[in-house]
Amino acid sequence: MTSLGYYLHAPGSRMDVVVSDIDSTLADTRHRRHLCPTVDPTRTWDDYAFDCLLDTPIAGPIALLRMLHAAGYGIHLVSNRPASAAGETRTWLAGNHIPYEVLRLRGPDEELSDGLKLRYLREMRTFGYHPVLCLEDWPATAAAIEEAEGVPVLCVNPRYSDGHPG
Ligand SMILES: [Mg+2]
Repeated sequence: MTSLGYYLHAPGSRMDVVVSDIDSTLADTRHRRHLCPTVDPTRTWDDYAFDCLLDTPIAGPIALLRMLHAAGYGIHLVSNRPASAAGETRTWLAGNHIPYEVLRLRGPDEELSDGLKLRYLREMRTFGYHPVLCLEDWPATAAAIEEAEGVPVLCVNPRYSDGHPG
């Protein structure tokens, strides 16, 4: 590693990063499931996301993020939530004391797919960041991240008991 590389990855530099999903990984979304377009086609992803302020925090993964942040890791939150819900999302994150440096949501021209997270993992490396761990609830997305980007994934089970897909 070059001296610059050593500096970038020194403990506490936040260049070693934990990348976390939000919905059903940090936030229990079940109360707004009826607003999900896959459940009610008359609704939009905006309708679904705007109601996130009432999400219940999922305590375990949030506790892990706090510990890793205290240990000097960067926390980047990457979600397919529409960017139009950034305000509500930041309010919810602050209200639940969830640490993060970056919030990356889905832009208006981006399709809803795993591509957003895979692209983010690739792009962050070009800025010197090193993704060391991902938190994700959706098994297919977790597998895609490990296979395409080689980043280990802690696959979170939100313990929904009603078969809700997340
Ligand atoms: Mg999720």
